[in-house]
Amino acid sequence: MEDTGTYACVVVTDETEIYTIVKINVTEGLSYEKSISETVHIGQDLSIDVNKTVPYLSSSESVEMKKKTLVVFDFDHTLVDNNSDMWVIQCTPEQSLPAWLENSYQRGRWTEYMGRVFTYIGEQSIRPDAVREVMQTIPFTDGMIELLKFIYQNKSHIDCIIVSDSNTLFIDWILEAGGMKCAVDIVFSNPASVNQRGYIEVGGFHSHSCERCPVNMCKQKVLTDFRARQADVGVHYHTVCYVGDGSNDFCPIKALNEGDIAMPRKGYSLEKLLAKSRSESNAPKVQIFRHERMAEEQEMSPLEKKVAEQIEYYFGDHNLPRDRFLKEQIQLDDGWVTLETMLKFNRLKNLTSDAAVIVESLRKSKTGLLEISEDQTKIRRSLSKPLPEYTDEYKDALKHKSIYMKGFPLDTTLDEIKDWLADKGHVENIQMRKGPQKTFKGSIFAVLESDEAAKTFVARDDVKQFKGNDMIVLIKDDYFAKKAEERKQGRADAKAKAKSEKEEKQKQAEKEEMKSLDEQRGCVLKFSGELDHVSREDFHQIFAEHAQIKWIDFTRGAKEGTILFRSDAKEALQKAQEAAGGSELKIKDKDVQWEVLEGDVELEVLKKILESQQESLNKRKGGRGGHRGRGRGRGGRRDRGGREQTRFQGKKTKFDSDEEEGDDAEDAEPAAKKRTLESNGKDAGTPATKQAKVENGS
Ligand SMILES: [Zn+2]
Repeated sequence: MEDTGTYACVVVTDETEIYTIVKINVTEGLSYEKSISETVHIGQDLSIDVNKTVPYLSSSESVEMKKKTLVVFDFDHTLVDNNSDMWVIQCTPEQSLPAWLENSYQRGRWTEYMGRVFTYIGEQSIRPDAVREVMQTIPFTDGMIELLKFIYQNKSHIDCIIVSDSNTLFIDWILEAGGMKCAVDIVFSNPASVNQRGYIEVGGFHSHSCERCPVNMCKQKVLTDFRARQADVGVHYHTVCYVGDGSNDFCPIKALNEGDIAMPRKGYSLEKLLAKSRSESNAPKVQIFRHERMAEEQEMSPLEKKVAEQIEYYFGDHNLPRDRFLKEQIQLDDGWVTLETMLKFNRLKNLTSDAAVIVESLRKSKTGLLEISEDQTKIRRSLSKPLPEYTDEYKDALKHKSIYMKGFPLDTTLDEIKDWLADKGHVENIQMRKGPQKTFKGSIFAVLESDEAAKTFVARDDVKQFKGNDMIVLIKDDYFAKKAEERKQGRADAKAKAKSEKEEKQKQAEKEEMKSLDEQRGCVLKFSGELDHVSREDFHQIFAEHAQIKWIDFTRGAKEGTILFRSDAKEALQKAQEAAGGSELKIKDKDVQWEVLEGDVELEVLKKILESQQESLNKRKGGRGGHRGRGRGRGGRRDRGGREQTRFQGKKTKFDSDEEEGDDAEDAEPAAKKRTLESNGKDAGTPATKQAKVENGS
């Protein structure tokens, strides 16, 4: 049966803003297979009730299969996602036109203007091949390639024409680049060609009498003429589907019949004109379905995602309050900031220099943070999304939804971190922590959507490693708590360290002392006897020729004392005895018992002497004058470490060194004689303290 086959048709549901073009298999007896073999969307999906749809196919009239569907496309901003006449400017050296040329445009005379543009391009020695190369980079509007393919696959039932105010050369090049020439039967556009000089020339398509349309083309006339010619050869269209965007697409739509379909692109001027005309009596009778780009239902490209994120960051809660420049800009024009200005922002500039990319990215973004102006030259933060007030509650909430991460290599970039975090949660803000030299410290603070999100984030397994580095991941609050704890611990550690160092020092001092003691073993000579009138000077005298005395511990009137020699005590004693004729060594004719000390007794005496020496030294350091002599009786208290005891020294114990100089000038050699005199003549009746002073001499 003649009717059997696959048909393309426009499917309409009650929802006026939803449409699609589908392929329907018509089998014998005009029953429809319920399965739709292929659906091509331009807009949103719809559920298809086949019985309700395609009335023209189910009517007896539609059985006449001479009737086809005619799809009419505008070109710029419809089939391709830009304006080809603007796109061509990219092939100029400056990617812009001189002002005199731009200013030469006269309303309604676009094609003449383009003629001048092409002449200019030719004069810049830009060859047609180069122009072609640039033109072939113009992107098709999302979904259009698929639609054209579908049309091609159903060529027997669908005729497809382009009616455009661009030019035949561009359209030809671009369709060829997209591999879509086969889908289009005829292109009605301004005739263009390359002349002998290698310049592109363009002329008007036709002349007409329509007052609404540019002088070179009335699309209604194009369409009407075309249909008339088709009718002449027996081709009728049961449905015309007109896909366009611009104001010059309004005129042809007015000539469409009831049942025909107009598909204005969402957000463009045709849509507005149609909406405006609805209330008018002479409004087009067509059904209107918005032609919304598939892109809106599609994933954003990685670049668009980055661009949108970057701009949303600039206008976001975290950056905007701190961004003085942007805040200033916002004051100027009711929140609006031109894309030109935006393109001066470094990170954005690095992503794209194309304002159209920004518009597309923001259009696709689902956050709704930014608005795009009607003329698509400005953006602003949506008035419905004001900045939050910076209250304590806000700050607190911010703290709880912030995290800390450490372990990034120091050369990590923000982009790397962003990319890495992209699939790990919605991150509102990333702060790369910098050191004093403004270099990255390897750690970040990041703000997530909520405290719950932050908790979930830190619990993730896949955030514990970055490029093989182990990461520390904490809620920001916990990080600060940990940091405070560490500081506290640090202080405790420092204290403990100081303590152990002090102990070590003391130990060392003791060791030194022991060493010193050991070195002086065998140098201590003890003496005892009736020594009533003996002074230290007497000991000096009898040993003077035989050995050097380092210290004498003896108090006048005592019955015993000790001498520390610089050399062996036994030897010193022997020499002195020999000098005395080998007999007992006496002092002032008094018998004296001499004993070279050994072992523990010797050690104890040595320690005592050492302490006394130390004390004497401290005294000298501590101050002279005032309590010289007397001083020994006071302030004897000093810290000598655990094993030492406080000692009061005064009249009881007198130590001194024969060699320690400075403090007691009298101690020095020349003074010795003077003291000899003193000791000889003035000893008696001298108060203990006074004696002490006198006896300080050695
Ligand atoms: Zn017209």
